[in-house]
Amino acid sequence: MADKNQVIVTEKIVIGISACSMGCPVRYDGKGTDSITILGREKTDFIWVPVCPECMAGLGVPRESVHLSGGDGTAVWLKEATVKNRKGIEVVEALKLGCHACLDTLKRAKVSAFIYRDGSPSCGVYRTSMRSQKRGNPPGVFGSLLLEQGYFLIPADDLQSPIKWWDWRRRLLAFHWLSTVRIETLGDIHAVWYKLKFLCQELDNEYARRLGRTIASLDKRLPEGFIEQFRKELLQLLRKPSNLKRITQSLWKNYAHYRKATGKKIDEINSPEFQRNVTTIAKELVKMERSAVEDQILFGTSPVVYRDEHRLRALREKKEEQG
Ligand code: SF4
Repeated sequence: MADKNQVIVTEKIVIGISACSMGCPVRYDGKGTDSITILGREKTDFIWVPVCPECMAGLGVPRESVHLSGGDGTAVWLKEATVKNRKGIEVVEALKLGCHACLDTLKRAKVSAFIYRDGSPSCGVYRTSMRSQKRGNPPGVFGSLLLEQGYFLIPADDLQSPIKWWDWRRRLLAFHWLSTVRIETLGDIHAVWYKLKFLCQELDNEYARRLGRTIASLDKRLPEGFIEQFRKELLQLLRKPSNLKRITQSLWKNYAHYRKATGKKIDEINSPEFQRNVTTIAKELVKMERSAVEDQILFGTSPVVYRDEHRLRALREKKEEQG
């Protein structure tokens, strides 16, 4: 693990998703929105697990829409708020059962991330609608469970923006890898930090510098609980979205490093002053990721990538042929 390449994940990550965001017509009005076809071929890089807590509550399609009453989804679990339908009938107990049925499904499928429909009183995480208010208190009833379980949570609307999706995907891959990678010794900590530090610096420079100094001052006898805390804090940081300015700065910094290390130019990557839209920037980032894998250079801003086993083998064979 002490090598200086990208981390390549070859198993498909399992992602849970609000079923209506996968185009399933399960909403109260019998509609659904397909948010993932836009990913094109990349859709097949993941295994999808659609769930609908309102359907699993037995509320049926079509049904009366439901709303939170008296507080958010967490308050519902604490019995301080309730859920009613448009006719004022309480559906809270059925919905709780539906949420637990969905959660069981996600656990059985070994899901580590979830794409949620924000705004829903059930699946919403950072927005929910309440009666008489356009924006209610988040999260929704199922959203509250997802937060509590520590899933990596992605809003379905962000899949429509190539740059936002790119940002979510690279952090998801890093999150997935960090959740499972073996960390037992100081050497393991150094190796993990080497892979993730550039991304962490982009997400929160001050925190990352502080952590870097702490790691540098460690000796072989690690303080008790340090490894667990290290992993927990980094996982938390990886949940945090970046922004366009920081992403483009990182792209350029990494591209400069790539050129220095390989002596190569990548034609598709434009100079910083070139005016381009976010779709073009997202394409440049994907190109940079691919070139880094081919040339075995760590692209610190996207340190963990997914490659299908067959594609990876073909790439390695081609490299060997080229000597
Ligand atoms: S409960 Fe969730 S999955 Fe079901 S329709 Fe509402 S937002 Fe979609």
